[in-house]
Amino acid sequence: MRKFIIVLIVLFVIWGIPGCTKGEEKSLFNAGIYEGSAAGGYEDEVRLEVTFSKNKIRDIRIIKHKETKGVSDAAFARIPNAIIEKQSLDVDIVTGATYSSNAIIDAVKDAVEKAGGDVSALMAKQESAKPIEKGLKSMEADVIVIGAGGAGLAAAVSAHQNGASVIVIEKMPIVGGNTIICGASYNAVDPSRQKPLGIEDSTDKHFKQTYEGGDKLGKPEMIRVLVDNAYPAIQWLEGLGMEFRDITFTVLGGLWPRAHKPVMPLGTGFITTYMDYINSHDDIEVLVDTKAVKIIKENGRVTGVVADTPENKITFKANKGVVIATGGFSSNIAMRDKYNKMWPELTRMKTTNHAGAMGDGLILAEAVGANLIGLEHIQLLPMGDPETGSLLGNIEQNVENRIFVNKNGNRFVDEGARRDVMTLALLNQEDSYMYIILDTHSYPSEDVKNNFNESMTELLSKGKAVKASSLEELAAKINVDPENLKNAVDSFNKSVDSGKPDLFGRTLYQDRIDKPPYYAGARKPTVHHTMGGIEINTEAQVLDKNGNIIPGLYAAGEVTGGIHGTNRLGGNALPDITVFGRIAGKSAALTR
Ligand code: FAD
Repeated sequence: MRKFIIVLIVLFVIWGIPGCTKGEEKSLFNAGIYEGSAAGGYEDEVRLEVTFSKNKIRDIRIIKHKETKGVSDAAFARIPNAIIEKQSLDVDIVTGATYSSNAIIDAVKDAVEKAGGDVSALMAKQESAKPIEKGLKSMEADVIVIGAGGAGLAAAVSAHQNGASVIVIEKMPIVGGNTIICGASYNAVDPSRQKPLGIEDSTDKHFKQTYEGGDKLGKPEMIRVLVDNAYPAIQWLEGLGMEFRDITFTVLGGLWPRAHKPVMPLGTGFITTYMDYINSHDDIEVLVDTKAVKIIKENGRVTGVVADTPENKITFKANKGVVIATGGFSSNIAMRDKYNKMWPELTRMKTTNHAGAMGDGLILAEAVGANLIGLEHIQLLPMGDPETGSLLGNIEQNVENRIFVNKNGNRFVDEGARRDVMTLALLNQEDSYMYIILDTHSYPSEDVKNNFNESMTELLSKGKAVKASSLEELAAKINVDPENLKNAVDSFNKSVDSGKPDLFGRTLYQDRIDKPPYYAGARKPTVHHTMGGIEINTEAQVLDKNGNIIPGLYAAGEVTGGIHGTNRLGGNALPDITVFGRIAGKSAALTR
């Protein structure tokens, strides 16, 4: 019945759209960029720009708003992404930011109308990610996946491609987890994109940097699978319809220019691609508001999952296997404190992660005998918003073209180093506070966006960036010593000219910082990633404390351990979750 209704809605959409006549290729919008506006909560309007292709809402850019900072931040971070990811205006309001959430949705409606789109169809459109039916007691599929982030959805699609029926259960009201809000930098050795840019690379180099970058604590056989399959996984995603840009670059702590960037903003490209597949196939579905609370093990084999929903407790029977893909535990302060051995203090530190990153999967897995490894390896970034810990508002582009200075205007670390090295150095600066300094080499125009889909115009208007026409003026605006700032930039420029390692050992350079206007943005340490977790083998099978396989149980993504050692390279999580998500789905589907 549900599929029938979706077909009716699709037909209604096709027939109801202006400019789409019988026999022509269907199109939902007149492609282009349209402005939309709506009254905000506090006497002002929310104004935004929406980019439409013929059949998709591609991008939403906030141009102007005066909603209350802090209160409305979550709405501006979540609602545009949710609309893009669901391709629907029927998205969840952010609790505590109702006015701002509604204003954003209304402004997008306005733009949809201007683009010739059908607002009511977009309001009515339902994803297959749906709340559970009332009164339901049990469900059954070949493969049950816990968690609808990048790893879980990759596992679901892969299991289905290998012949399994699949149910994904997700505890949050929306799909995507950390994956949908991520910066989407994806490391893979890819001569087709790297060679034209003059970048030499190899999977051996990717292996060496990953292994040594984690202090040789990652398992070599797992890293080998990661680096060898990172590019094939991009090709798999492209085969599912996902688009990547033609460039590669060095992401923060990534150590080498092999990061790929999707065309769609943040991690929405991954989630949209998987959900498009799921929505257009039978025998695969995602249920939201469904929280796994227990894994069922009978006679030594995992056979299902018990989950809580707002209505009932439901048993999900897995004919072939259960995949745990619940992500990391950066949002769980008690768990961070329990396992932290690397950092002086994490209790009061903010995080970049979504609220659902609570480490549920570790508790579920341990209860059925899984071995947990490397939990003390918790990654901090030096890049948090000083107020929220978020990566939003981060002005950096690629590693090569920016420096960090402390409150005195002095550099203090190799800005191309490992993430733990940079963060430790920042923790030793006054107030653990720094400014990123860069120039127009990073922002040839103020329309250019950062990795989190924010243009320099927006960053300036939100107060996340400061702009000046000279270094002296910039120093005055951020209150650092002008001589120190000038010396920091001069010595960096000399190293760019010589190409030799500087006094901090930095080797990654591209352009001088000498083209005004100059920009600065403040940053502090923030909790970002948990490298430890469930021990798996190269087939993504979960191992017990004696190294034996637990039949019927698989895991993938940030919930697993043993790959990144003490420190994950920037840009290595997305290939990890995609490669091992894909393997976990296939292994579960083909299990006997
Ligand atoms: P998630 O995507 O977090 O998905 C896990 C899902 O499981 C969530 O939806 C969660 O709600 C659900 N879940 C949890 N418990 C339960 C339960 N009990 N029952 C049901 N569902 C449950 N990495 C890179 O490589 N490149 C980047 O550019 C990058 N940028 C990042 C930027 C940010 C802001 C953040 C937070 C991370 C970034 N990372 C990046 C890291 C990367 O995004 C994550 O490691 C990765 O997305 C984790 O994927 P996952 O599928 O394992 O977990």
